[in-house]
Amino acid sequence: MIDLSMLKRPMALLLAGLLLLGGCSRPAGDAPSGRSGVYYEIFVGSFFDSDGDGLGDLPGLISKLDYLKSESGENCLGVTGIWLMPVNPSPTYHKYDVTDYYSIDPGYGTMEDFEQLIYECAKRGIDVIIDLVINHTSSRHPWFLAAVEELETGTPPRYQYYYNFIDHPRSGYYPTAGGMYYEAHFWSEMPDLNMDSEELRAEIADIARFWLDKGVAGFRLDAARHIYKERDKNLEFWRWFSDICKEIKADVFLVGEVWDTESEILAYYGSGLNALFNFPFAGEKGIIHHSVINADGLRLATHLERFTGKIKEIDPDGLHAPFLSNHDTDRSAGYITDPNRRKLQASIYLLTPGVPFIYYGEELGMTGKGKDENKRTAMIWSLTDTAGQTNGPEGADTPSAADGGVAELLADPGSLLNYYRAVIALRGKYPSIQTGTVTNLKSPDRRLCAVLIGDTAILHNLSPDHVEADISSLCPKMRLGDVLSPTGEDLVINGETAVLPPYSTVIMVP
Ligand code: CA
Repeated sequence: MIDLSMLKRPMALLLAGLLLLGGCSRPAGDAPSGRSGVYYEIFVGSFFDSDGDGLGDLPGLISKLDYLKSESGENCLGVTGIWLMPVNPSPTYHKYDVTDYYSIDPGYGTMEDFEQLIYECAKRGIDVIIDLVINHTSSRHPWFLAAVEELETGTPPRYQYYYNFIDHPRSGYYPTAGGMYYEAHFWSEMPDLNMDSEELRAEIADIARFWLDKGVAGFRLDAARHIYKERDKNLEFWRWFSDICKEIKADVFLVGEVWDTESEILAYYGSGLNALFNFPFAGEKGIIHHSVINADGLRLATHLERFTGKIKEIDPDGLHAPFLSNHDTDRSAGYITDPNRRKLQASIYLLTPGVPFIYYGEELGMTGKGKDENKRTAMIWSLTDTAGQTNGPEGADTPSAADGGVAELLADPGSLLNYYRAVIALRGKYPSIQTGTVTNLKSPDRRLCAVLIGDTAILHNLSPDHVEADISSLCPKMRLGDVLSPTGEDLVINGETAVLPPYSTVIMVP
C-alpha cells in the first residue's frame, strides 16, 4: 500500500522540488562526479569573450564557471562536467581540423589559460573533457604537409603512412602530388588518418597522455565510427585506445560519437569506451520528442528500459549518454515550441541513468537550425549587458535567439533555465536515478512514462491533460519524493490515485 500520509502533505511541500531553486548543492557525503552528474557541451568561441575581440576564449569561460557550478554550489546550473569542442589550433572556426594536437588555438588563449581552467574547474568539482579529433587532421597539419612533400620530392615515405594514399581516382579521395590521391571522407581539407600505422598510433598515445597529464578527465571522441570502414576494426582501435588511456588514468571518461542506428551504437559499448551518445533518442525525429508530441509515455518507457538494458548486457559498466541536441543538430527549442514541453523534455533526459549532456544555451531555449554556424551562435548572457558578448560564427545567417539571457532567466522563477536547475538538483538528490537499472512500470494510461530506476520511480505525464494515475498499483509501498510541474499546477491526490498536472514529473521513493 502506498503511504498516503506522505501524499496528503500540503501542496506547498509537494512542490519542494521547485523550491530548491536557490541552490544546487548535493546531499552531504555524495561527492560530485562527472560520471553520475550532468555534462555541458561548450563551443568556446561562442561562449564568453574576455578581451573584446568578439571571439570567446578560455579566460572568458573561466570567468563564467560560477554559472555552471560555483564553489559553494549555490546559484548555479549545477553541472559536474564540461565537454569543450576542439581547442587545438585550426584554420576553421569550428576547429574540427587540427594543425597541432599539443597546443591551444591562439584565439582561445594559451596553455597557461587551459591549465588555469583545469584548476578552477577542479575547485568547483567540474570534470573537463576535450574533443579529440583523430579520424582526420587538417590538410595544414605538419604530418600531411610532410607526406605531400615526400610525394613531391620522392623522398622515402614516412608520413605518407599516416594517411591513406592511392594512385588512382576514387570517390572520397582528392588529387595531390606525384599523381596520388588522398582519402578525405568529410572534406578535402580533412585528410583521414591511417591507424594501421604503428608510428601514428604511438603519436596518438602520446597525445592522449599529454592531455590526461594536463588533468582532463577524458575525451569526447569525434567521428568514432569513421576511423576504419569496418566496424570490427573500429572496435579494435577503440579497445586499443581505451587500454592506453586507462593505463595512464584508470578512471578516464571516454565518450564516443557514433552517429548511427541503435544497433551500431550498442556495438561500440564492447569497445572499452565508457559511453556513447544516444542519437536515436535525440533530435526532432528522436524517440524523446516523438513520444512527447504523441503524448506516448508508454513508448518512451519501453525504449528507455530496452536501450539502457541492452547497454548493461553488453557492458555492465557502460554509461547511457542522452542529449536533446548538439553542435551538429538543429537546436531543440526550434522544434519544441511549447515552453511546457521544453521543460518536460529537460526532465525526461536529465532524469535517466548515465551521463546526460546539455548543449550550451539549451537551458535558455536558444534556437538555431539549418547551416552549422546557426547551431553554434553566441551564448546569450544578458539582453542588456553586452559584457563578454561573442560575435558567433561569421557564416551564421540567423542571430542567437532565446527566451532571454542568463541574467533575465535566472531572475524569472518560471524560466526554462530555473527548471533545468531544479531538475539537475533533483538528479543529484536521488543517486538511484544516476546509476540504477531502468524497469518499465507499464502504465496502463499510455500518456504516462512510468519507470523504476533503481529504487526510485519516475512518472512523466507526456500529455497536455491532467492524468490520473493509480499510484498504489504503479509503485506500491512508495512515497512521494518530489514533483516538477511546468505549468505550476499542483499534484492532486484523490484517495490512492494522483492526478498529474500537464507535462509534470513525479518522483517516488521507497
Ligand atoms: Ca576573445
